[in-house]
Amino acid sequence: MVEGGRTRKELGDAVTRAESLARASAQPWDIVVIGGGATGAGVAVDAATRGYSVLLLEQHDFGKGTSSRSTKLVHGGVRYLERGDVRLVTEALRERSRLLANAPHLVRVQPFIVPAYRWWDAPYFFAGLSLYDLLAGRSPFGRSKYLNRREVLRQLPTIRAEGLRGGILYYDGQFDDARLLIDLIQTAVKNGATCLNYARIVRLLHDGDRVTGVAFTDAETGTTAEVSARVVVNATGAFCDSIRTLADPAARPMVTPSQGAHLVFDRSFLPGNAAMVVPKTPDGRVLFAIPWHGRTLVGTTDVPVPTTELEPRATEAEIDFILETAGRYLAKTPTRADVLSVFAGIRPLVKADGGTNTAALSRDHTIRTEAGLLTVTGGKWTTYRNMAEDAVNRAAELAGLPPKPCRTANLRITGPIASGSVVPLHPQLPYTEADIVRAVRHEMARTVEDVLSRRLRALILDADAAVEMAPRVAALMAAELGRDAAWEAEQVRAFTALARGYQLRRESA
Ligand SMILES: Cc1cc2nc3c(=O)[nH]c(=O)nc-3n(C[C@H](O)[C@H](O)[C@H](O)COP(=O)(O)OP(=O)(O)OC[C@H]3O[C@@H](n4cnc5c(N)ncnc54)[C@H](O)[C@@H]3O)c2cc1C
Repeated sequence: MVEGGRTRKELGDAVTRAESLARASAQPWDIVVIGGGATGAGVAVDAATRGYSVLLLEQHDFGKGTSSRSTKLVHGGVRYLERGDVRLVTEALRERSRLLANAPHLVRVQPFIVPAYRWWDAPYFFAGLSLYDLLAGRSPFGRSKYLNRREVLRQLPTIRAEGLRGGILYYDGQFDDARLLIDLIQTAVKNGATCLNYARIVRLLHDGDRVTGVAFTDAETGTTAEVSARVVVNATGAFCDSIRTLADPAARPMVTPSQGAHLVFDRSFLPGNAAMVVPKTPDGRVLFAIPWHGRTLVGTTDVPVPTTELEPRATEAEIDFILETAGRYLAKTPTRADVLSVFAGIRPLVKADGGTNTAALSRDHTIRTEAGLLTVTGGKWTTYRNMAEDAVNRAAELAGLPPKPCRTANLRITGPIASGSVVPLHPQLPYTEADIVRAVRHEMARTVEDVLSRRLRALILDADAAVEMAPRVAALMAAELGRDAAWEAEQVRAFTALARGYQLRRESA
């Protein structure tokens, strides 16, 4: 028996948490990665596939930070062309194609339509999108084209027709961010990395003024362990300054946190296959309405926030802004009562000199070393792989590790193992009991939130339905993990409290 009364055979190849904990403290590591978001998971995959020994430690669950809270686009960022950022866009377009090839089970080609209401809109957008196509070179994504009014209305039947002149169709990618993250963690583990969630870095170890390791606390037992490393990589995104000040209390903040919110509606708001793009909102951003997992995802905003929270909440102003802006472009105006879920994430924007408008800060990634600690932040989900490649190149150099070539450009990302039983959990969502068992046995889920928010996307697809599923999910998890009724009750309570931050309908009823 290895965990929750399960035998090794029942667990297949899965590594248990106890095994990972034992491994974590057993060795001196080539690389210790702090942070289990897209950047940290990318670094773990890159380092492990090069043959370096690597340990990744995440304070909460994998993807709890920004990496489960994106707009779910695999894109070059066409809007950065307006600022002349051709290099950034070209690099992201290359990564867009790689991600489609390496994770075809999670990434798909998505058509987008930019509606044109003024006569000059269509030629302007068409010029920009033609340049975007050109920079993409030979790619599996289709080419942009002009659509007349009738064709726009056919593909976006719920769009406001009054004043519509036509539109431009273009293509980008779309994905499931938290699922890709879990699959990256699995890919890292399969290639020899050790990855632990609920392991918070509380201290850095030093030899003189050089960082030589970390101390982490296991949230489940409260015990703290010290681990030495040839190099420590700080991949904590919008939290990176808190780790940098552990290395050097005088370190000046490098990140300006900026929040972005999304609202989720049912499919009736966008019943076709195409997504709609509002190219310029009053705060200078792009607003997307995208079909996603049978729902309509609308966002986002860009609001500077004073601190980085692990569970950021959309403000009333952000919610009103999205409802109002979407309402201007959709024939049926969405209201609070239509919102199935609301969620927000924090961008780790790297500070530029002067200026407070976060929409204008750099979207590129940055690598910085201080006292032997390597911080990698900024960038976007789409570019996680080349961020990781750069970071591991620099980390190996810093640690004097033997140089080894990066192997991730064409590395296939592991998909989830097939689930067995088909007993459904809720009429509004496609999930089954077997999905819960798989999440616990094979995907390191430890809490009801881990399952309903990130292994499955119930919380952001329909927060009310997720709350209704929680007791059954807690019971199935308790059986898997060998937990008692008190644990089950506490899990349901904690999840219900968390879900309140995602529920708007209840408030507005
Ligand atoms: C609203 C919004 C929309 C976006 N949309 C897109 C999009 O459509 N496409 C795209 O390509 N990009 C998008 N992005 C950008 C993308 O989501 C981020 O660039 C990316 O997720 C950042 O990943 P990360 O790993 O650097 O940070 P995170 O995902 O935040 O990971 C950092 C992790 O570090 C952990 N951590 C912090 N402190 C500690 C500690 N002491 N010990 C251990 N662990 C710790 C945190 O818990 C966290 O899980 C969007 C971002 C936002 C905010």
